[in-house]
Amino acid sequence: MSLQKNNISIEFFPPKTAEGAEKLRIVRNKLVTLQPKYFSVTFGAGGSTQQGTRDTVLEIQREGFEAAPHLSCVGSSPDSLRAILADYKAHGIRRLVALRGDLPSGYGASGATSGEFRYANELIAFIRAETGDWFHIEAAAYPEMHPQAKSPQQDLHSFVRKVHAGANAAITQYFYNADAYFRFVDAVRKEGVDVPVVAGIMPITNYSQLMRFSDMCGAEIPRWIRLKLASFGDDSESIKAFGVDVVTELCARLLDGGAPGLHFYSLNQSVPTLAICAGLNGRI
Ligand code: FAD
Repeated sequence: MSLQKNNISIEFFPPKTAEGAEKLRIVRNKLVTLQPKYFSVTFGAGGSTQQGTRDTVLEIQREGFEAAPHLSCVGSSPDSLRAILADYKAHGIRRLVALRGDLPSGYGASGATSGEFRYANELIAFIRAETGDWFHIEAAAYPEMHPQAKSPQQDLHSFVRKVHAGANAAITQYFYNADAYFRFVDAVRKEGVDVPVVAGIMPITNYSQLMRFSDMCGAEIPRWIRLKLASFGDDSESIKAFGVDVVTELCARLLDGGAPGLHFYSLNQSVPTLAICAGLNGRI
């Protein structure tokens, strides 16, 4: 199946230092060869990376590419979010990735400031109330269920609520089991929701980092992948080569099965994403 270009997007985190910002420019320069639809930039819950997110997004936009800031609501006040939205609107930003966010431990059990935003659907409704149709809004989706959800059904309904609140499209949490994605999309369609559900892709480059991330976000690493990665020990070249193989195959299966696009969690690196895309043989 051949798909048009531009069905990928690439995510960065805002660099903390001038050196990191310079490295990210070099990485971006390499990744633009993939002609991504847009680059997105994460946002630390409670506004902890607010300036870095803004600076990175506006820099990407000045370079002539579409940039989408992430925006999370937990721990943020309506006034602070209103100001951020007005600022992005004034700069001509048209796309947002809208999330609840995760506050670091120590912010209280609910994670939210009482009486304010508790869930992403409330943020999405707020963005629509404040800015109408100005922004194209991407929401998060969880084919393997969000770790705090009580059941897959409850999580599905939480997702549907975000679309009803005004999300135009979704990006999934990463996963390595294509069936989980296809089943999730089927379930979403049965709920009468027809927004594109773009598959979030995490390249595999480092075993311990992958296990740490996956424990936090609830993504399952299939046993055979874990065992194989563990067997490579400190041999990072073998880990990377195996990671490219596995993730390229996953991406091919997703695209061939109808996934409308891929969103790469690049971790501010170019090599893994470039290697995976090179193996997709004209699918992107
Ligand atoms: P929600 O949709 O609000 O869901 C959170 C949990 O609450 C789920 O378990 C859901 O089932 C449940 N829930 C939702 N509504 C209700 C309700 N009304 N009643 C009861 N339960 C409910 N985090 C960041 O801090 N910064 C980022 O930049 C960032 N970028 C991300 C990008 C993508 C593509 C993805 C997939 C995740 C990202 N995250 C980011 C992580 C995200 O913030 C966390 O996964 C967070 O825990 C949930 O965010 P959400 O928007 O999915 O929340």
